[in-house]
Amino acid sequence: MEIFYFDTVDSTNAQAKALALSGHGECAIWAGEQTAGRGRLSRAWASPPGAGLWQTQLLRPQNLPAEMAGGAVFVAALAMAEALSEFAEVGIKWPNDLVLNGKKLTGILAEAGFSGVRCDWLALGVGVNLLQPSFPEELPYATSLLIETGISLLPEALLKRYLGRFQPWYEIWREEGLAPILAAIAPRSATLGRRVLANGREGEAAGFREDGALLLRADGEISALVAGDVSVRGLYGYI
Ligand code: ADP
Repeated sequence: MEIFYFDTVDSTNAQAKALALSGHGECAIWAGEQTAGRGRLSRAWASPPGAGLWQTQLLRPQNLPAEMAGGAVFVAALAMAEALSEFAEVGIKWPNDLVLNGKKLTGILAEAGFSGVRCDWLALGVGVNLLQPSFPEELPYATSLLIETGISLLPEALLKRYLGRFQPWYEIWREEGLAPILAAIAPRSATLGRRVLANGREGEAAGFREDGALLLRADGEISALVAGDVSVRGLYGYI
């Protein structure tokens, strides 16, 4: 896959989106620093120079039904959890974060463009905190690989590992759907089996639905939370 590096960008997702709209093919964009890194719902993602892997893949899936595009976040989460597993036992917090010792190590942001009922492009952004020695007070739940393990892992080394892990899971997702991805996530999940708060309701994270929705058991009833419109928190902290 073609890889573009920038010292500084506004946001690697914004760059990927611009390339997608100009008709560019599949590629990865990574940057030393993002000046306007984003999370979901336009929240800011802190991306200081050289401190983490700030990268976005532009994908052009063939014949992907629009309603399945959201599944890409699970593929990215699984691939990055595997890429990091040699260094730390990271958990996958449903739907789109990786956590280490109860804190947020990685955020994932998927954006997509559609032509009718098909997904035309996917911008799959993953930000991983690697080398920050500390975080500002406004980010009490953030952590880095260095803080938790003492390991200094360089962004480019992680990018190579990640892209290597991503490709096979991406092919499995396209050929077999989300079921094998969710099955591989389950043992690494930091959410399943826990009591969580979602949209102000407390319940137990009881399982995944086949489309990736989180099944919440509350007051003896099961309801499905769809990724994208909900933030899940633990009762006593971030997970
Ligand atoms: P969530 O999925 O937790 O609801 P997002 O995935 O949208 O949130 O991530 C954005 C949030 O992550 C921000 O509002 C901020 O609290 C937090 N955040 C921002 N930068 C970082 C970072 N580098 N590491 C960890 N957390 C961060």
